[in-house]
Amino acid sequence: MNKKTVRDVDVHARRVLVRVDFNVPLDKATGAIADDTRIVAALPTISYLRAQGARVILCSHLGRPDGKVVEGLRLGSVGQRLSELLGVPVFKMDDCIGEAVTRAAFSLENGQVLLLENLRFHPEEEANDPAFARALASLAEVFVNDAFGTAHRAHASTEGVTHYLPSVAGFLMEKEIDYLGRAMENPARPFAAIIGGAKVSDKIKVLDNLVSKVNVLLIGGGMANTFLKAQGYEVGQSLVENDRLEVAVAIRSRAQERGIKLGLPVDVVVGDRFAAEAESKVVSAEAVPADWRILDIGPKTIELFRGMLAGCKTVVWNGPMGVFEFPRFAQGTRAVAQMLAASDAVTIIGGGDSAAAAESLGLADRMTHISTGGGASLEFLEGKVLPGVAALNGK
Ligand code: ADP
Ligand code: MG
Repeated sequence: MNKKTVRDVDVHARRVLVRVDFNVPLDKATGAIADDTRIVAALPTISYLRAQGARVILCSHLGRPDGKVVEGLRLGSVGQRLSELLGVPVFKMDDCIGEAVTRAAFSLENGQVLLLENLRFHPEEEANDPAFARALASLAEVFVNDAFGTAHRAHASTEGVTHYLPSVAGFLMEKEIDYLGRAMENPARPFAAIIGGAKVSDKIKVLDNLVSKVNVLLIGGGMANTFLKAQGYEVGQSLVENDRLEVAVAIRSRAQERGIKLGLPVDVVVGDRFAAEAESKVVSAEAVPADWRILDIGPKTIELFRGMLAGCKTVVWNGPMGVFEFPRFAQGTRAVAQMLAASDAVTIIGGGDSAAAAESLGLADRMTHISTGGGASLEFLEGKVLPGVAALNGK
């Protein structure tokens, strides 16, 4: 990575503002933290800074309070959980700027941890307001961005503050950029991408970018329906984007021109309605009954994909192969996750739902890298420069 990291700056006895991604899922009924993965993912940077004798000031957003105080979106329980994980007290503030916060920040001792309140209680955060960014920056002497999941947004705490402080990447940020960056810029080949999920329209830019980089492109999920329809197949009641048929044709011909192996479903699992209890059967991709809808890839497609992935050295996966939320239509997604888990290739998963699928199958730790940033990893796969990354100091 060509950006400075926490290793490249002296943080001893300094106040260090760290942007973390503590945007954890909360239990709808109780408001408790449903999954602390994101807090755990920030620990290496926080522990390193403490060990160096830094005075750590953490900031994050949580949910979408839209610029006002929402009691249920305070970071109190996040602070408690962090304190349990670190085994030291975490001082939690009720705001992220202001006099009380400044006083607390300036009275921190080496190794102590302060957690600011939800940044998005202030509309200035998402507006990337310079005065707000300056107020945040005034708390510290160094800025560390470890919030890869928010790096695709130019907000005050991701981009604005970098105008006022030396700014470096944390370990999580570094890891994400290293894995995703290497895959996109200098992958071990053959390089394969498996793209699924609901819609072509969500991922046109991803397909566009990947088709110029990969050797093998496998398309499943709802978006494959649009490709099937574009080649003249009837897709019954399936999710299909009739206004994107040309996109599918264009991707296909670019794949052909570039000599890329393109894999599309040859058989599919159809359901008689969109429901967990829907009746299901396997049919050939060109024989979808008019009253049925495609909800997963079929067994022959799984074997086709397996064969096309054999020997690949890098595999990037984004988007489930079917409606995996319904167990009856989860087989394609499960099979792809298992293929990746068993593979010797560098395997990278980017995308919230595909990552969740790998987690729920217990296969997460057998992947080379699962990105913690859904939207951010998608923009990376689109070939975009993330503003939160671009703003960090170069090496
Ligand atoms: P990711 O979060 O991994 O990027 P997406 O958000 O693009 O993935 O897509 C995930 C969604 O796509 C899931 O909710 C899944 O149910 C849906 N999906 C996959 N295949 C189909 C299909 N054949 N028909 C309708 N929806 C589908
Ligand atoms: Mg998703």
